[in-house]
Amino acid sequence: MFSNLEIGIDLGTANILVYSKQKGIVLNEPSVVAIDTETKQVLAVGTEAKQMIGKTPGKIVAIRPLKDGVIADYDVTTEMLKAIMKKASKLLGFAIRKPSVVVCTPSGSTSVERRAISDSVKNAGAKEVHLIEEPVAAAIGSGLPVDEPTANVIVDIGGGTTEVAIISFGGVVTANSIRIAGDRLDDDIIQHIRKTYNVLIGERTAEQIKMEIGYALIEHEQQTMEIRGRDLVTGLPKTITLHSYEIRDCMKESLLHILEAIRATLEDCPPELSGDIVDRGVILTGGGALLKGMEEWISEEIFVPVHVSSNPLESVAIGTGKALQYIHKLQKAAK
Ligand code: ADP
Ligand code: MG
Repeated sequence: MFSNLEIGIDLGTANILVYSKQKGIVLNEPSVVAIDTETKQVLAVGTEAKQMIGKTPGKIVAIRPLKDGVIADYDVTTEMLKAIMKKASKLLGFAIRKPSVVVCTPSGSTSVERRAISDSVKNAGAKEVHLIEEPVAAAIGSGLPVDEPTANVIVDIGGGTTEVAIISFGGVVTANSIRIAGDRLDDDIIQHIRKTYNVLIGERTAEQIKMEIGYALIEHEQQTMEIRGRDLVTGLPKTITLHSYEIRDCMKESLLHILEAIRATLEDCPPELSGDIVDRGVILTGGGALLKGMEEWISEEIFVPVHVSSNPLESVAIGTGKALQYIHKLQKAAK
């Protein structure tokens, strides 16, 4: 007999992941769609589409439909979900058995958008669809005991948004979301290089700089990196050498906003839960948690222990996939 096929989808602003209980992460691709603007046809989704960003001829555009943490372009988001479900179906064989799907939706989405996401996953071949709050999924995926009455703090620094939440008993006690996260850091780097060197670089180069020599606001051994962009004066390609200190400094303001969101959430914490937080600390997750020095910097600033989740880019997807067991438990309890 076949066991029930259960999958989780992390519909992130930067990356979309599919997790199956049986096979683990089966799909991990950028949340990017390439579209022909004349025919409105979807040409590519995911990795293939990301490679087109900034390189496509006029009538093809590569867009990120969830860029700012809300569903900026609903039709394109649906198309993307359909394509992802189709790929997952090939990998997991939905043709034989329809899966139960849990999707975590961006916290900025409205109830109409949530409904629409659920419908499009269903249309793409799901037997049943459940939606879950993203911080709860992140907590489950980071291995926290979410169904116990102890408080856990999750800070999820993604592409479009940073979400800070205090979770207890499987629910969100208090939460904050700001639209400052990885994308904003990339943008800070683009602006800095334009202002300082009169050189224009693209989003992908900015992201590479951030990952390679970007640091949170800590002292560290200075690193350098050579990059190429377009000289705004001559219009020609130009090579410049960047230092890690200047990159850290240009991201300072955005990083301080992220810190402020964490502080504000901790200040909202019900006093009965404060003790747990001092004991258990704060878990950092999402791709932004991988910025060098992040754990050290945040823990210096908030005086409680800080840990990076063991798999920041995958914790939400893993948590979404594992959430079904909690959802079934809750449904049984409600009956
Ligand atoms: P989302 O859930 O919004 O899709 P992710 O959790 O997948 O976002 O994180 C994506 C963000 O993490 C991007 O802005 C990416 O540049 C950033 N990121 C990934 N790896 C690193 C790294 N090593 N250092 C700094 N930032 C990183
Ligand atoms: Mg995410």
